[in-house]
Amino acid sequence: MDSLRNVLTRLEEGGAALGHFNVADLVLLKAVLATADEIRVPVIVGASEGERRFLGTRQLAALLNSFRGESDLPIFLNGDHTHSLTMAIEAAKAGFDLVGIDFSALPFDQNVSRTREAVEALKAINPAILVEGEIGDIGTGSEIHETAQNELKKTLTTPEEARQFVHSTGVDILAPAVGNMHGMIKSMLEGHTKKHLDVERIAQIKKATAVFLTLHGGSGTADEDFRSAIAAGINIIHINTELRVAWRRSLEDSLVKQPNEVVPYRILPPVIDSVKQVVSSRLKLFSAPAARAV
Ligand SMILES: [Zn+2]
Repeated sequence: MDSLRNVLTRLEEGGAALGHFNVADLVLLKAVLATADEIRVPVIVGASEGERRFLGTRQLAALLNSFRGESDLPIFLNGDHTHSLTMAIEAAKAGFDLVGIDFSALPFDQNVSRTREAVEALKAINPAILVEGEIGDIGTGSEIHETAQNELKKTLTTPEEARQFVHSTGVDILAPAVGNMHGMIKSMLEGHTKKHLDVERIAQIKKATAVFLTLHGGSGTADEDFRSAIAAGINIIHINTELRVAWRRSLEDSLVKQPNEVVPYRILPPVIDSVKQVVSSRLKLFSAPAARAV
C-alpha cells in the first residue's frame, strides 16, 4: 500500500484532498470503507480518544488491517485529537498511520513543547508515522450546538505562529483555525446556514509552513468553500458530525419502521446506507480536481 505521505502529495498535485471520517462503531466503519471503494478513492478513518476507548485502539487497528487485506485502495488510520502522550503512543504501537496531537487548549509555548515531545516519541516508535499538530481554537464536540461559538473569531491561526509552530515541533501536518469549527449549529442541520472559511488565511499559512494542512470540523461547510480551501492548500478534510446526524436519524427511522424487529442485521443496513450517502457526497466533492488558486 502506498504511504500516507505519497497519497497526500499525489492528491495535492491533482487538486484534491483526502476525506477523513470518524468512526465509533462497525456501522460507520463499513459505510466509510464501502463508499471509498465504490468511488475508487483513498480514505482516512479517524477515531478520537472517546471513539478509541469505545472501539478499542488495537481492535480498530486490527479491523482496519483486515479490510485493507480485501481492498486495493489505500486506507489510512488516524488517532484523532489525542490529548495525552500515553494515548498517542498506544495508537503508534497499534500501527496507526497518523496521530493528531492536540494540545491546542494550552498556551502556545506549552503546545509547542508538548507537541515536539510527542513527535519525537512517535517517530522513535515508527519513523514512517505522520504527526499532526493543532493551533488555534476551533471549539470542541462533534455534535449539535445551540448557537455558534462567537469567541472563535479571536483565535484564528496567524501565518507567523503557524510557521513558528511547524518549525519548532517538526510536525508533518498542521491543523489551523481558519474559520472552521467542530460540530454543527441547529440552523445548519437543514442547510439554512453554512460554515465559511478564511481561504486567504489558508493560502498564507500554506505559504508560511509548506506542510500538509488539515481542516477539522468540516461538517456544514459550504461546498464552494471546500473547493477553494483545497485549492489554497488544505490536504485532509474531517467530517464527523454529518455522519453522526445521519447515523442517529436513520437508526430512529429504521426502528420506527420495524417496531417489532430485534435482529441487528435487519435494523442496521439502512443506517449504513444513510451514512454512505453523506460520505459519498463529501468524497466526490473532495476528489474533484479543483481549479488552482491564482
Ligand atoms: Zn477535529
